[in-house]
Amino acid sequence: MDYGIHLNITHLPPTWERDLDALVEAGVTSAKIYTTYRDTIFYADDWTWYQLMQRSGRAGLLVQVHAENDAIVEGMARLLMDEGKTSLRYHGAARPGVAEAEAVARGLLFSRVTGSPVYFVHLSTPMAVDLVAEARRCGVRAIAETCPHYLLLDDSRYAEPDAARYLMTPPLRDARSQAQLWERVQRGDVQSIGSDHCGFSLADREGIDDFTRVSPGIPGVETSLLLLYSFGVLANRLTLPDLIRLLSANPARIFGLWPRKGDLAPGFDADILIFDPRPQRVLSAAELHSRAGFSPYEGLTVTGRVSTTIVRGQVVYQNGKVVGKPDFGRFQASEPFDPAAARL
Ligand SMILES: [Zn+2]
Repeated sequence: MDYGIHLNITHLPPTWERDLDALVEAGVTSAKIYTTYRDTIFYADDWTWYQLMQRSGRAGLLVQVHAENDAIVEGMARLLMDEGKTSLRYHGAARPGVAEAEAVARGLLFSRVTGSPVYFVHLSTPMAVDLVAEARRCGVRAIAETCPHYLLLDDSRYAEPDAARYLMTPPLRDARSQAQLWERVQRGDVQSIGSDHCGFSLADREGIDDFTRVSPGIPGVETSLLLLYSFGVLANRLTLPDLIRLLSANPARIFGLWPRKGDLAPGFDADILIFDPRPQRVLSAAELHSRAGFSPYEGLTVTGRVSTTIVRGQVVYQNGKVVGKPDFGRFQASEPFDPAAARL
């Protein structure tokens, strides 16, 4: 497959302004900020984030935000730990929705005062999506992304013995929030659906029944289309064009790959996926190719199957097998972020 790169920015060294220009020039035009994980290499403090956004818009860089208020997440985790509630069933309780909404509100304010656009990755709550939608109506250039797991799974999974299959951040929310998130997707308040794919295996989590000691992340890139077709299109929540906009066209526009990726039209790469909408089956990890070796969706009844994937005119996947040659995938330099292309 072809690929692009998002940077993770954690601090700004003295040469950062020149570095930023060089980065955009090299075709890396989006960078992620983590508002949580303070004690790790991922975290960026508010000063770093705010300073970056003072320049990112003009430099053509889109700032992506993992939005969870670190103090709230830390405080809640400590409270649970003091009560001896450290098993995986408390993973969701340790990261309440208010933490996400607060960090989104902060990012929207930074966007408003700096004029730089902002993209919120993997939003899990209707509250956070509503904040973005309200800000957009006031002219703030903000984009909301969610993921299939927030639309298809809910936090009752954490009470199950196999809670290790559902550990991601932000965590799954309750069934009511899930229904409300679907409503927001349906009315167009979500512009993009990502997978937030991680290839961690269950073996990495074996015997660790402690939410403070597990690296979060679930596999999902291979099942995104299948699940959104089965539970979005066939459930009359989305049309097929909606689905393609959310999974393909909008991300290509937002991340500077349009008009090369994201559509079937003259001048675009011949990236084509042939989808058979008929076969129905119970989803099994055995049919998937991720090194994770499991799927949080195992056991769901799904409809449809990707029969062929073509990249730049070459068949790379057919009838359940990867047939592309190693090294075929090419780095795709992204154009500088363009609010018009992103329809902001
Ligand atoms: Zn993240």
